Amino acid sequence: MIPLADRFGRVATDLRVSLTDRCNLRCTYCMPEEGLAWMPREQQLTDDEVSRLIRISVETLGIRDVRFTGGEPLLRRGLVGIVRAAASLSPRPKLMLTTNGIGLERLAEPLRDAGLDRVNVSLDTLDPARFQALTRRDRLPDVLRGLKAAAAAGLTPVKINTVLMRGINDDDAPALLRFALDHGYQLRFIEQMPLDAQHQWDRHAMVTADEILESLSPYGLQPDSVSRGTAPAETWLVPGHVDAAGEPARVGIIGSVTRPFCGDCDRTRLTADGQVRDCLFATEESDLRKLLRNNATDAELAEAWRVAMSRKRAGHGIDDPAFLQPARPMSAIGG
Ligand code: SAM
Ligand code: SF4
Repeated sequence: MIPLADRFGRVATDLRVSLTDRCNLRCTYCMPEEGLAWMPREQQLTDDEVSRLIRISVETLGIRDVRFTGGEPLLRRGLVGIVRAAASLSPRPKLMLTTNGIGLERLAEPLRDAGLDRVNVSLDTLDPARFQALTRRDRLPDVLRGLKAAAAAGLTPVKINTVLMRGINDDDAPALLRFALDHGYQLRFIEQMPLDAQHQWDRHAMVTADEILESLSPYGLQPDSVSRGTAPAETWLVPGHVDAAGEPARVGIIGSVTRPFCGDCDRTRLTADGQVRDCLFATEESDLRKLLRNNATDAELAEAWRVAMSRKRAGHGIDDPAFLQPARPMSAIGG
C-alpha cells in the first residue's frame, strides 16, 4: 500500500466519486436554468470502470471513505450495483452518498441493503416558494419524503447540507435548525463557493460563516470540544437538545471561503468521465479513463493517481487576485 500523499504532508484517504453530471434540479448556485451541455455518454465511465477504480483506490492507495455524488447520483442507473461492489472490498470502506433527496424514498432501502452507510441530503429551505426559487423546480415534498426514508432505512446520522443565498433564504437558518433538531438530522451550512456554471459568484453577496452563526444566536450555541480532525465542518453544540443517537445535538458550518481548511484536506476526487482532481478548485486533471481504455494495469492506474495527487496545491487560493474558477462547474466535479 502506497498512499496518496502530497508535498505538504497531506494524505488523501477520502474519495469523492461523481457518478453523473446530470441533475433533476437547477440550483442557482450550481447550474444555469438551461443550456449546460451534458457529458457525452461514451465519455462517462461504465459501472465496471468506476468499480475498478474504486477497488484500486481502496486496495492499493489507502482510501477508507468513499462518497458518491454528482450531479445527482440517484439518477445513475447502476448506483446500487456500484455501491454493492464497493461494499464487498477489503478493507471495507465507509460508503456515503450526497444527494438532493429526490428518489431517495424509493432507493433508501435498496442502497442500505447494498451496503451504503450514510447519506447527506441537500435542503436549503422549508418554504415551497423559496425552494422553487432556489432549485427552479417544485420538488420540496420529494426531498422531505427522501429524508424520512433515509432515516427509516437506518442511513444515519442523516445529515442535511444547506447553502444560504442572500435575499432568498438567508433568514432560513433558525427554521432549518429547528426542523433538524425535531427530526434528529444533523444540519451543516456550506458557504457558497465560486463553482457555479454561470460564473456569477460574488464574494460580497456570499452569506458568511460569521453571519450564519449570528443568525443562530437564539439557540445559544456552545463551542464543541470534539476535534474537527480532517472534517471540513466546524461544529457547535445546541444546548438542551440531543440527536437521534442520544448524543448532544450539533450544528456544523463549512466555511470553505472565509475559514478554509485546506491544510487538513484528505480528499481526492474522481469525475464521472474518469478524471482525477486533487481539489474542488483544481484547474488541471489527470485522465485515468484514457489509461483504463488503453488497457493499463492496476499498478499503472494507481501510479498515475499517486502522481496526480502529489501535485496538489497548498490551498484553493480563492482570495488570491490570480484565482481562476475551474472550467468545470460543481455539478460536473462532484461536491
Ligand atoms: N446533487 C447532489 C446534491 O445536491 O446534494 C450532489 C451534488 S451537489 C454538487 C453536492 C453539494 O454541493 C450540495 O450540498 C450542494 O448544495 C453543494 N453545492 C453546489 N454548488 C455549490 C456552491 N457553488 N457552493 C457551495 N456548495 C455548493
Ligand atoms: Fe443538482 Fe445538486 Fe447542483 Fe442542485 S446542487 S443543481 S441538486 S447537482
